[in-house]
Amino acid sequence: MKGKPGRVLISAEEIGRRTEELAREISEDYAGRDLVMVGVLKGAFVFLADLARRVRIPLEIDFVAVSSYGSDTESSGVVRIMKDLDLDIAGKDVLLVEDIVDTGLTLKYLVGLLKERGPASVEICALLNKPEARKVDLEVKYSGFDVPPLFVVGYGLDYAERFRQLPYVGVLEDQEGSGRLS
Ligand code: 5GP
Repeated sequence: MKGKPGRVLISAEEIGRRTEELAREISEDYAGRDLVMVGVLKGAFVFLADLARRVRIPLEIDFVAVSSYGSDTESSGVVRIMKDLDLDIAGKDVLLVEDIVDTGLTLKYLVGLLKERGPASVEICALLNKPEARKVDLEVKYSGFDVPPLFVVGYGLDYAERFRQLPYVGVLEDQEGSGRLS
């Protein structure tokens, strides 16, 4: 099995501080509203757990799981729902929580799909953002860190299902400069 975490890109402490800031902003923006945080499985489970515990207003939590058609190395933009929401989001304020926005194709599709269900609003909160890799116009309202177009692992992000449990975000060794692998 090739590939292991190399240098630390964002430490656990930095992630904690930034998550606290984002949670404060979200708590202010959504005060008095009907917030539903929707985590995109599997990568967002760590970030969502840490973010939600810092938010100081009532909220509901749900998850979706998606898989994109196409080759392993390129997002096709066509997304299949593998696990749908359990909650009815009509009239509610949905905050999609994602580990990383790369091309933006996955979230663009998901936002469109969820909007058809009549929510009051749909916004995006992503821990990591790769602006240079973007292929579609997508507003990421809450963004933790901009990262270069490298393949990163840890804090929910995997390489072949490994390394999700790392408390930091690291660059996959030998992948410096290679962009994305999955
Ligand atoms: P997008 O549709 O924005 O291109 O793809 C987003 C998804 O691609 C993320 O949710 C994540 O699963 C995967 N992805 C993109 N970049 C990386 C990366 O650097 N590391 C890992 N582990 N996954 C990535």
